[in-house]
Amino acid sequence: MTYIHDTLEGLRHSSPAQSEFYQAAEEVLECLRPLLESDPQYHDHSIIERIVEPERQIMFRVCWTDDAGRVRVNKGYRIQFNSALGPYKGGLRFHASVNASIIKFLGFEQIFKNALTGLPIGGGKGGSNFDPKGKSDAEIMRFCQAYMSELYRHIGPTTDVPAGDIGVGAREIGYLYGQYKRLTGRYEGVLTGKRLNWGGSLGRKEATGYGAVYFAQNMLADRGEDLRGKTCLVSGAGNVAIYTIEKLYQLGALPVTCSDSRGTLHDPQGIDLETLKRLKEVERGPLTHYLTYRPDARYLSREDDPGEGHAVWRIPADVAFPCATQNELTVADAEALISNGVTCLSEGANMPTTAKAVDCFLDARIAYGPGKAANAGGVATSQLEMAQNSSMQQWTLEKVDNKLQAIMADIYRSCADTAAEFGAPHNLVLGANIAGFRKVADAMIEQGVC
Ligand code: NDP
Repeated sequence: MTYIHDTLEGLRHSSPAQSEFYQAAEEVLECLRPLLESDPQYHDHSIIERIVEPERQIMFRVCWTDDAGRVRVNKGYRIQFNSALGPYKGGLRFHASVNASIIKFLGFEQIFKNALTGLPIGGGKGGSNFDPKGKSDAEIMRFCQAYMSELYRHIGPTTDVPAGDIGVGAREIGYLYGQYKRLTGRYEGVLTGKRLNWGGSLGRKEATGYGAVYFAQNMLADRGEDLRGKTCLVSGAGNVAIYTIEKLYQLGALPVTCSDSRGTLHDPQGIDLETLKRLKEVERGPLTHYLTYRPDARYLSREDDPGEGHAVWRIPADVAFPCATQNELTVADAEALISNGVTCLSEGANMPTTAKAVDCFLDARIAYGPGKAANAGGVATSQLEMAQNSSMQQWTLEKVDNKLQAIMADIYRSCADTAAEFGAPHNLVLGANIAGFRKVADAMIEQGVC
């Protein structure tokens, strides 16, 4: 199968210095080998060459004024990767580390994730290297307005519908939406993750974290287990981590960690959810403040991280939920988790596990749920928000949550059945990639060369 190799080599040549994108592309293409060998139509229609190439990439300058009156300049991105299944859909990330490679890997993953939901949404992603840390509310607003002043001409409720991601929550979606409305004069469902009183969906804020827990529940159920009484590790302390922790408590598990870019919090009695929400959703402060409310908890700063990994993964537990960022879990972390007894891992974040660490989990036969399947609950509920906006309705939380649970169960089933079809029932990475790819690729073939 030299053309997989040739395609990956071609990407390295035509899109230099995009290591995160190569990592994501290599994982998907390697998983597709058995499908491509058994079904020549994908090769005949050059689907591999077409699917790794974004339909459109938009890069733009974002100029805004800080509180001191100084003009600041950032890079803005929106990648419209694949629209075979519906309008482009995927979040916006505002973080200092953002670059073309990170946006491209996120957009590529989004294609298959969105396909797995079974909903009519294509794959896109966007963001900026703007660092929200330490910025005032007025600076955040001016930045969002400047960013939307360019983005508005490329998006729309039936063309491209952005949402949140790292550094973009309901506050930022509000400022972005206000500017879109000012520029276009239209009040329409062009963004998801909106506040409830102006078009948001009940359950959207919780959906990614809840969905990652539902996915773990499905994986465990197939092994005759459940989450009740299980000790859980969670990384991150943002939207996904907080609502992962909330759902774990609801299902009788004990989440004992969370983390941010400065360090890890270990509370053996269980993370105090209300304190965590107050710190991160209201005060937006560091995790160290948690210790003033819970002095018995332990804080490990980044200096306490082991050389080849992260302190959060060295704590004995049963189940793990990486919910912070890409490549936050190394081979050494994976080995520590396995030897400490973790039997299930569900990824709330996108590509949090390095490629070699994924192999460790697959070799150890633990229940491993890759992000493109396990964290698809967020984008699925975004699509439910779009459906409510276009029909001018607001559904109950119960209705949204029931749909989310059904979607996560369907995604799990589709990944597990596809993995079994290709002779590797334990390998949900293979199952997710083939199941997602087939839906997009079949639609591309049916829609002709475009
Ligand atoms: P938030 O901005 O709400 O939270 C991100 C958390 O991760 C923060 O605690 C942040 O710490 C930490 N973090 C970010 N970058 C790093 C880093 N380089 N090293 C260590 N910690 C880091 O983002 P979300 O919770 O929304 O997103 C988390 C992950 O989930 C991302 O991978 C995102 O792509 C993925 N995801 C999110 C969805 C959503 O609906 N929001 C949907 C699907 C996937 P600090 O504040 O100190 O930077």
